[in-house]
Amino acid sequence: MTDIDKLIANTIRADVRAGSSYKVPDSIGYVKLDAMENPYQLPDALRAELGQRLADAALNRYPVPSYETLKRRIRAKLGVPAGYDVILGNGSDEIISILTMACARQAGEGRGRAVTLAPVPDFVMFRRSAQFAGMDFVGVPLKADFSLDRPAMLEAIAEHKPSLVFLAYPNNPTGNLFAADDIVAIVEALGDSGIAVLDEAYQPFARASFMERLPSFPNMVVMRTLSKLGLAGIRLGYLAAAQPLLEQFDKVRPPYNVNVLSQVAAEFALDHLDVLDAQAARLNAARAELSGAMAALAGVTVFPSSANFITVRVPDAERTCAKLFAEKVLIKNLSKMHVLLANCIRVTVSTPEENAQFLNALKASL
Ligand SMILES: *Cc1c(COP(=O)(O)O)cnc(C)c1O
Repeated sequence: MTDIDKLIANTIRADVRAGSSYKVPDSIGYVKLDAMENPYQLPDALRAELGQRLADAALNRYPVPSYETLKRRIRAKLGVPAGYDVILGNGSDEIISILTMACARQAGEGRGRAVTLAPVPDFVMFRRSAQFAGMDFVGVPLKADFSLDRPAMLEAIAEHKPSLVFLAYPNNPTGNLFAADDIVAIVEALGDSGIAVLDEAYQPFARASFMERLPSFPNMVVMRTLSKLGLAGIRLGYLAAAQPLLEQFDKVRPPYNVNVLSQVAAEFALDHLDVLDAQAARLNAARAELSGAMAALAGVTVFPSSANFITVRVPDAERTCAKLFAEKVLIKNLSKMHVLLANCIRVTVSTPEENAQFLNALKASL
């Protein structure tokens, strides 16, 4: 007879046994403002056309593993510099895994464990992927205003010699864009010993990017996703980098990692990028309005955001989240993520109606 607990102890690694899976709360019946989704769908006419395209997709065939047509659309529409290519991921989450898998050294190399470094608080998948790939993770605290602590970052880079440095631009969960000259100083300090990964998941809202500067920095790569732009459901991320680096990452990528339905939907969406960009512009206008309304509330500190979410400090985050939950509004309590985020909450910018529902519940909680 197999004892399943013994089996797990004998087979599953210790850090996995000790850890927990990525928690996503059940959101049925709630206004969902916790995951930075775009609240708008494509217009009906476009959805009907997309339905036809999806019906024509060859579901009986494996995807073409080079994904050349989709990659060509991405290069042409999303500002990838001439001479640069991309690899695709099943969401940028998978690209983060690919990066860490490619850089985690094996014991036999005799160089010790490789290091991933990032400012904290940051996107949790950087730490999780590094850990699961077998890399050490070093987090360098941001300053209290959520800007990069440049001397501390440079010191940590000199000390730990990270193979990967993740910089989310804008940062999640803080929402701000780091100063470009701080980022350049970090990229230059890494030189030929480390790769700087610019995670531009919120680029559609920030309208700021390092993409065009790829040719200036061979050790910088730029990662993006279609998720926050409005296609979180299809799971499509991409990474732009110098060709020799891409070739290395491509060795680790599962060959058919993006399914044909996502591929067709992404190509279709990129043909209608103007519609998605207009939605992003609407959300940016709503962000300004919601930020202003919250800033007028006593006891609330609004942090500047260049993303489709706003991070604010309230007098009692626990009480605010409980009140919002009772009013059927889901947001994220950031308080326990990091000391810098004490009593901070994060709300996704949504439709005028949902924003108003959130704002009313927030006021009632104060
Ligand atoms: C949401 C998010 C991602 C994940 O994007 P997917 O493409 O949906 O996997 C990556 N990085 C940051 C900073 C994010 O906030």
